[in-house]
Amino acid sequence: NVPIITIDGPAGSGKGTISQSIATKLGWNLLDSGALYRLVGLAATIKGIALDDEVALSVIARDLDVSFKPGDSGIVDIILDNNLVTDDIRTEEAGASASKVAAVSGVRKALLERQRQFQTDPGLVADGRDMGTVVFPTAKIKIFLTASAEIRAERRLNQLKQQGINANLRGLIRDIEERDARDTNRKDAPLIPAEDAIIIDTSTMSIDEVVNTVMEAVEK
Ligand code: C5P
Repeated sequence: NVPIITIDGPAGSGKGTISQSIATKLGWNLLDSGALYRLVGLAATIKGIALDDEVALSVIARDLDVSFKPGDSGIVDIILDNNLVTDDIRTEEAGASASKVAAVSGVRKALLERQRQFQTDPGLVADGRDMGTVVFPTAKIKIFLTASAEIRAERRLNQLKQQGINANLRGLIRDIEERDARDTNRKDAPLIPAEDAIIIDTSTMSIDEVVNTVMEAVEK
């Protein structure tokens, strides 16, 4: 019975950073489930497969040849079919493709078992959209992070700036709202908090404050 903490929420809610920090603090494994959807989107694009072709996408998700390896300076190298794709899956396009393939039932089904395999000792921090509702419904601690679309877009803008990319705040807000709508309204595993989730609005919180709030829930 491996202990699991699920951390769900929309894009830009701080999930990735918070999950990584909690996993490091506890010395537990980390599942970045969004990376799996991004990888399916990327693999499909490389193979020229339409992002709504359920049969072909399901095969890609099932056969995905991916490994996560700790690389330099704490960054996890993501290798797809022997190619390093760590940066390729983080682009806006890859995020948009991920959100499209994530709406395909066959893809979600194919990734279910793969995600559950991350459940190994001494524990797992699972970061995603449906970790607490679908993938690990019996997890003892479920966190749901939120933040306003404006704040999430500002965070994204700053991230892009650090990568030397100039973006437009209004465009980012629109993208985030579109993606939220797609994620919330889809038939399978819509983005909603689990009934027993602790909901944390991170709009006015620092990363440390959020990490501390989650750790308090863990230590209780
Ligand atoms: O978290 P991240 O931005 O990397 O996720 C990319 C996309 O993958 C999300 O917009 C969402 O549509 C999809 N996703 C999902 N279920 C998860 C994780 C991600 O549907 N558990």
